[in-house]
Amino acid sequence: MSRTAPGPVAGIRFGAIPADARAVLSINLAALRSNWRELNKASGTAECAGVIKADAYGLGLEEIARALHDEGCATFFVATLAEGRLLRNVEPAAAIYILDGLLPGAAAYYAGFDLRPCLGSLAEVREWAAYCDATGRRLGAAVHIDTGINRLGLPPGEVEALAAEQDIFDKFSLALVMSHLACADEPTHPMNAQQKERFDEQRAKLPPAPASLANSGGVFLGSDYHYDLVRPGIALYGGRALQDAANPMQWVVRLQARILQVREIAKGEPIGYGATFRTERSAVVATLACGYADGFLRALSGTVVRPGPVGFIGDYPVPVVGRVSMDLITVDVSDVPPELARRGAWVEVMGARTTIDDLTDRAGTIGYELLTRLGRRVHRVYLGREA
Ligand SMILES: *Cc1c(COP(=O)(O)O)cnc(C)c1O
Repeated sequence: MSRTAPGPVAGIRFGAIPADARAVLSINLAALRSNWRELNKASGTAECAGVIKADAYGLGLEEIARALHDEGCATFFVATLAEGRLLRNVEPAAAIYILDGLLPGAAAYYAGFDLRPCLGSLAEVREWAAYCDATGRRLGAAVHIDTGINRLGLPPGEVEALAAEQDIFDKFSLALVMSHLACADEPTHPMNAQQKERFDEQRAKLPPAPASLANSGGVFLGSDYHYDLVRPGIALYGGRALQDAANPMQWVVRLQARILQVREIAKGEPIGYGATFRTERSAVVATLACGYADGFLRALSGTVVRPGPVGFIGDYPVPVVGRVSMDLITVDVSDVPPELARRGAWVEVMGARTTIDDLTDRAGTIGYELLTRLGRRVHRVYLGREA
């Protein structure tokens, strides 16, 4: 796209963007696939799975699954049974793990869709084994060991008890032994080595099975953490896996919003709710069709003391001024040629230049939250579908 045409302006459709779209999220599947390849390479001989819970971090479960599948990804992790069922529709052959574990009384649903629970307590393991025993099917599951995050997973005492149960491992197939790191985004944090040590200690008590410890951050902790399978999520989507380090992943998402109105504002006039921002010069302000209901966080407001993030019209930076409201953002377009900053033009508010990480650092949150909060009314466009 040229500098003078930063996005669709008129007509019924512009590329894949319908004329009634007000905010558009472009999801670059080629970049996603490249990120998976990089993570796969970084994981050496370990299998690289894809974590696509919460609608693939807000980017669309089915589309993301298909793209990863095309690259060779054969194992997926989702959070919920419902996500697993949706995924099974598009992935008839993949191994699908449910991070929630086994919901009481629901074993038949997992079995019916060939979904593997990440069994997180002795009670869950027993219930799964009993279901397999009763139906005469030796179904696969992961056993999830808690090594210090204290959230889900068998604590050491339960691993001990499980190891002592006669015959339980004859009843179901132990497809994976896994644990989850609490501080993988901080490579020097002592929890990492401690959890790895506990993982080795605990899994040694169980029958031999493929092992998995690393999320995105864990992939970058080195080969000691890779075991047989790695489980990256955020890095696939271009988010930062490690704090205070350069982000080596390609950017995947771009959020653009349409200009609804452009107006001139006299020096000293307030903009937006609470009149928290006043212009220090006469200014030209554009009102964009995107707000916190679309996932552009209210904490990204621009006030007099704390300037907002910068969007772009072509190559021209346009800072957010005033409060982000439910449906709208206001940006200062005083320095943009009027033929570009006009009604109907598109403004990039998140992308390669103002990244997820830039925005979330500013808003005091993390890329995971920003992505999963992108609103349903944001029109999604998938680019680079073909490999
Ligand atoms: C969400 C999740 C992951 C993926 O984590 P990222 O930090 O996004 O790479 C891996 N494992 C488990 C158990 C998870 O819950």
